[in-house]
Amino acid sequence: MIRLFGSLVLAAAFLLSPPLAPASLSIQCGAAPDPQTKIFCLTFDDGPTDSTTPKILDILQEENVRATFFVIGRQIPRRSQILRRIRDEGHSVGIHTYSHEYKKIYASASALLDDIQRCRKAILNVLPEWDSDLYRFPGGEAGLSDTLKDAVKSAGYKICGWNASAEDAVSPGATADELFENAVKSAGTKNRVVLLLHDGVGYRETVRALPRIIAYFRDRGYSFQTL
Ligand SMILES: [Zn+2]
Repeated sequence: MIRLFGSLVLAAAFLLSPPLAPASLSIQCGAAPDPQTKIFCLTFDDGPTDSTTPKILDILQEENVRATFFVIGRQIPRRSQILRRIRDEGHSVGIHTYSHEYKKIYASASALLDDIQRCRKAILNVLPEWDSDLYRFPGGEAGLSDTLKDAVKSAGYKICGWNASAEDAVSPGATADELFENAVKSAGTKNRVVLLLHDGVGYRETVRALPRIIAYFRDRGYSFQTL
């Protein structure tokens, strides 16, 4: 009887609990006038880099698409021209990290906020008028403590996850075709897609996959927006 009661309580708790949020997606992409609008947000982490970011920007310019770049602060000083180009071409810039060293930044809430602040300063040194509260956890927020997440939220940042991924950072050696397939598969039939991509060093296949990703989702009625 006790066991049966326990099962009923568990079943009730399961039924009453809200559906799980999509992995790592804390904020919605863009502002759609109605839920039927199909919106696609391309997001790029780990730039700016000399080898990848300009190529990504060339494609976005050619396709007339705007994206969001979550940048690494320590890479900015020698690439201020690239950061300006991101801004000048209408893309959105968010904070990713200054160092991208997990051990350091996730050591404590104050270490994390310090890292975020350093990245903010690096961006502001180049773009003094920049004003954004977009933030993306290096490695994503899955598995991080509430203390860390609460600290970021209390500091006024919007945590930006993703609900689709080309898996370009976790599939070394994957071809552009495979990255494209990953993007399509993970986006599924979602009306609002936030796709994780990278513009770090060595992401040549991401560059090659990008025009195909844009064409595929554009053909399916998505409009591209920044976060
Ligand atoms: Zn990253």
